[in-house]
Amino acid sequence: VKQKSTYEGTLKAVPRMLFVFLVKLCSGMIEAGKAYVSANKLFVNGIRDLSQQLSQCLNILFDQAQRSVKQQLHNFVKEDVRKFKETKKHFDRVREDMEIAQVKNAQAPRNKPHEVEEATSTLSITRKCFRHLALDYVLQINVLQAKKKFEILDAMLSFMNAQYSLFQQGYNLLDEIDPYMKKLAAELDQLVIDSAMEKREMEHKHATIQQRDFSYDDSKVEFNVDAPNGVVMEGYLFKRASNAFKTWNRRWFSIQNSQLVYQKKLKDSLTVVVEDLRLCSVKPCEDIERRFCFEVVSPSKSCMLQAESEKLRQAWIQAVQASIASAYRESPDTYYIEHLDRTASPSTSSIDSASEPRDRSGRGGETILQRIQCLPGNEQCCDCGQADPRWASINLGILLCIECSGIHRSLGVHCSKVRSLTLDSWEPELLKLMCELGNSVINHIYEGSYQEQGLKKPLPTSSR
Ligand SMILES: [Zn+2]
Repeated sequence: VKQKSTYEGTLKAVPRMLFVFLVKLCSGMIEAGKAYVSANKLFVNGIRDLSQQLSQCLNILFDQAQRSVKQQLHNFVKEDVRKFKETKKHFDRVREDMEIAQVKNAQAPRNKPHEVEEATSTLSITRKCFRHLALDYVLQINVLQAKKKFEILDAMLSFMNAQYSLFQQGYNLLDEIDPYMKKLAAELDQLVIDSAMEKREMEHKHATIQQRDFSYDDSKVEFNVDAPNGVVMEGYLFKRASNAFKTWNRRWFSIQNSQLVYQKKLKDSLTVVVEDLRLCSVKPCEDIERRFCFEVVSPSKSCMLQAESEKLRQAWIQAVQASIASAYRESPDTYYIEHLDRTASPSTSSIDSASEPRDRSGRGGETILQRIQCLPGNEQCCDCGQADPRWASINLGILLCIECSGIHRSLGVHCSKVRSLTLDSWEPELLKLMCELGNSVINHIYEGSYQEQGLKKPLPTSSR
């Protein structure tokens, strides 16, 4: 009996409530874990495969926790403790039996030896049985107590292992993208630096521009014959209407595809002023009320235009001229034109560069003068043989010294039209002519038979 009460005390000491509490805690943790997984899923969904792998890992972890901790503790409570309780019931029953046997043994009358013997033997059997069972009972209590010591620790350790492998996996996954993250960080740094530099540059530009005086808006006017989009020049010009009212309208003009075109608004269709620039000429116009005017004349019509400034007028005139030259250059019939025009009209020109001396080197590295001087006989005056002639007769296609050019002028333009190679402007047609002819070719005709006729060719030293 004494033992019995000790066993019972021990049994009560088995912290069954602790197990239940642990299971409850574990369930709570798993629930929280599941909530974490789903929240985590939402968060990482965007990070493609990586996120999936991560949440898979977490799911695995909480599955593992479910199995290892909760199940293990559950089994412990359900099976081990239940078995123990059954044993206890059995033990209680046998104890009651023994108590009954003790009572019966005590009640057995002295004068009935048969009854006494029976009661004694029953008591002895039940006591034996009780002792036997009590021994079993104690064993079970000890086993349970022993098991309790490692079972929980085992569950906890396996859970810790699961945690460890989870974070290990997470670490590995994140470690893989480490170079990428470093690269991104470097790019970010660069972007920040670039942006700061860009900002400083813009601020600097802003300050510089602000310092300028806007009253002289002489922005650099440029045209480009070889523009990739085909637009040599564009901008606003006033156009005088060809009707009786002769009203002036502001229109957006452009030179493109060897045509002069304009449009009322940006999205309007193009109106062609000059269909083929090769057929037109351009000249400044001073005998008109308005300033900065120039006229584009083509065989069918002429068009009066007004620029906003003298610079712009010059730019437009030069752009038209350069486009005319360019249009000739593009027609592949003449070798000379190509070479000449490149030197005659640098394809990219500005007011500043256009005001440079005309016989400065052009793109080809040769000047008009050098080109024409290279033709047979052109190294000397066509008439007197003076070296290095600088004048030309544009209808005859020859070069002359200054002395002979004066004589040619005196003959009248119906005989010879004299121009300076270096001072006058040259239209492409004239340049073409000059290159087709030359002193030798012309003298072969004009002086073909002077010796037979008894004539003498003048020398540089000859009198006028
Ligand atoms: Zn001469």
